Parts: sequence; C-alpha cells; structure tokens
Amino acid sequence: MPLITKKAEVLAVYAEAAANKWVIPCFCTENLTTTEAILSAVLAHGQKLNRPDLPISIAITNLYKGRQQTVNYTGTRKWNLGLKLFLQDLKVLMGEDSPFAGLRVLIHLDHIQHDADQELLEWDMSQFSSIMYDASTVSFEDNIRLTREFVDRHGQEIVIEGACDEIKEATRAHADGDDDLTTAERAEDYLKRTGVDMFVANLGTEHRAAASTLHYRGDLAREIRQVTGHKTVLHGASSVSTEEIANLFDDGICKVNIWTTLERDTAPALLEDMLRNIAKIIPSGRIEELKQEGLLGSNISSQDGKTDIGFFTNSYRQQVFKLEMEKIITEYLQTWYR
Ligand SMILES: [Zn+2]
Repeated sequence: MPLITKKAEVLAVYAEAAANKWVIPCFCTENLTTTEAILSAVLAHGQKLNRPDLPISIAITNLYKGRQQTVNYTGTRKWNLGLKLFLQDLKVLMGEDSPFAGLRVLIHLDHIQHDADQELLEWDMSQFSSIMYDASTVSFEDNIRLTREFVDRHGQEIVIEGACDEIKEATRAHADGDDDLTTAERAEDYLKRTGVDMFVANLGTEHRAAASTLHYRGDLAREIRQVTGHKTVLHGASSVSTEEIANLFDDGICKVNIWTTLERDTAPALLEDMLRNIAKIIPSGRIEELKQEGLLGSNISSQDGKTDIGFFTNSYRQQVFKLEMEKIITEYLQTWYR
C-alpha cells in the first residue's frame, strides 16, 4: 500500500508523524527527474534511520498563477495530461517491482484555485491524499465561505488544507510590512468556521524567493499552536535558511511545502558542470565562435577532447539535476526526520 490516499490512512500518517515529532515534508515536482530525486533521497534517508517506510508527500500545482506545474509537466502544455502523467509516474515508481515500493507516498494537490481550477475540482478527489484548497486571494469572509462549501462537499473523501492567509510572492513589492501575518485569533476563527484538517498560515516566508533574507516567525506559529494544535502548514520554506526552520514541530507545524530551492539551486550546478565539460558537449568550432562572441572566456579550451555521448544527452543533464536535488532534499529530511 505505498500510495496512501484513503483519508483515514492519510490522517493516521500525520498522527504517527506527530507522535514521532516529525514534520511531513511535501516537495512539489513538475517533472519525472524531480519526482525520482524526492523518492531516492527519502529512501536513502529512511534506510539510514532504519525506517524504510518513511512517509513523504509529493505535490503538484495546477492552474495556480505562481507556478502551473501540471502545465509544465508535458510539452503539450495541457494540465489534464500533465496531471495524468504525474499520477502515472507515481503509480509506476511505487509499483511492486520498484526500489521505492516500501515507501509511503502521499499525493498532494497544491494551491488548487477555487476559481481557475473548477474543472479539476470535478475530478475524483479520492485518488489524491490531500488538497490545498486555495481561496486566499479573496476577502477573508469569502475565503471562509468558499472553503466551508468545499469541506462540506469533499471533506469525507480527502484531507483538506485551507489557506488562512495569502503567502506573498517574492517579486511583489511589500512595503506593507508584517500587517498580514496570521494571528492566533484569526487562525482559530478560520479553522473553526471552515472545518479544514490543516491550514496554511503566513509566518513571514515568501514564495519563489531568490535569497534567504527573510525571517520565519516561530513566535507567531507557537501562539497559533496554543489554540489550534499541530495543524499549521508552512509554505515558502525556500525563502529562509534551514536553521530557521529546524524546530518546526515544536512550533505546531505538521507539514512544510518546498519547491523553489529544488530548481533554483540545481540550475547553477548544471551550468557549471556543462561549462567544465564543454569540449565534450559541443564541437570545437562552436566553442571558438562562442569565445569570439564573448560568451566564453579565453581559458576555455576547445582542444581537450571530442564530443562524448555521456555529456550531451538529456540523461546526463537529468543526472546532474537529480544528484543536486537529492542533496537539497536530504538536508530537509535530516532537519525534520530525526
Ligand atoms: Zn505555496
């Protein structure tokens, strides 16, 4: 039973995590390479802990303006095909003959939009483990009303993560300070009136941030925990250092969503690796042309070798990405699965 989608079983995984003082990491993906990097890193970490069945949540966004991951999953740019491919990849990777068969994987739909994602919301929700129902862009009262309606419709079949407050985009100007951080009072009100299983709070982090210059507000999280228990979900984890979010369980966080760092911090590794192996990737004549254009420096040599299939295929590029991603994922796993 490696893919866990029945609501009672999903909640049991969260209860087990809480008993172990674990925070469930939820990594987003928009391609098979990332999905495999997540599974490989979790498997390796679980083996180290002697817990070969470590649970992990793997997520994908749909028509969310911040990032449309199902759309990016396929060159057709069709979300429905992207979502089916994502589900199919997981099914195959969690099959009996797969090295990952012993893991417990939760499938999470992330940032599902109350308006743009209407069509997806008609799909059979029981094939997913959890869904973030995102109505955080409308007024607080409308957010509560829409979320309550969704809970009434689907609360029996799927774990629902509400979005109490909007998490800022890093690209947005934010002279508005800390005014829209989630307070304990607001979180309690939201949770009571919507009936969601867990909820996203704005604790100072941002989505798609380019650098770790922000601060996670653990003090606010602990105030929220006092009134809601362990039901808070943290988004925007890539915008703060891992030291800042080392003790999330004590702060009442049950799940953390991570994506940006997986792509942001692996692209430089690929660029560097390709530059170091450039003579094996493109013909020497092309290297000389790029030098003429000023794109390559004079100490790059075109004489070091000849092109090599081990370096110019997609398989090579994916491998560089995958290894870098596994390092990043492992750092988070070491932080929350101790
Ligand atoms: Zn998010």
